[in-house]
Amino acid sequence: MKQLVFATNNAHKLDEVRNILGDTFEILGMVQIGCHDDIEETADTFAGNALIKARYIKEKYGYDCFADDSGLEIEALGGAPGVYSARFAGEGHNSEKNMDKVLSLMQGKSNRNARFCTVVALVTGEGEYTFEGEIKGEILDERRGEGGFGYDPIFRPENETLTFAEMGDDRKNAISHRARAVKKLAEFLLKDA
Ligand code: IMP
Repeated sequence: MKQLVFATNNAHKLDEVRNILGDTFEILGMVQIGCHDDIEETADTFAGNALIKARYIKEKYGYDCFADDSGLEIEALGGAPGVYSARFAGEGHNSEKNMDKVLSLMQGKSNRNARFCTVVALVTGEGEYTFEGEIKGEILDERRGEGGFGYDPIFRPENETLTFAEMGDDRKNAISHRARAVKKLAEFLLKDA
């Protein structure tokens, strides 16, 4: 079976991707190839950061590899927090503080439009490819729900009544930005598999 590395340390993301691609590809995590490096994400786009991670593994370990980078973009904030989503309120990667910062910046704003975006970058011997998934929605003025992670309690997807934090993992994973990007990757990989 053809091996492919997913440059992530997130076990949940690995499971999700193995569910989609696992019959055709052996998906290896970074730990399985002996990579414990912290790859710095220094680009100012999701695609740039995803490519940094995938290229790093391809160049250093030789495996064909894909990586993802995601974030929240809010129209009224000029696209912030964007690539800074994880560290919007500081290097601590604290979701509560990040949400507090967004809620405070959004106070009094009537344009609540936002989107979550994921770019998956694939680097193989043949070339480099990127796949984008997005989900549009709006920023609420307070938290709703206990599930999910990150900004989920303050984001309600378009055409949904519940926030990402209220709807449960199954529903979220069916419509999320990440699921949409991974689906495009899977279509590409499975086309000639
Ligand atoms: P990553 O690139 O998937 O690690 O995402 C970077 C950051 O974007 C996370 O730390 C979260 O703050 C935010 N984020 C990405 N995806 C989601 C999501 O599905 N829900 C809530 N926050 C997210």
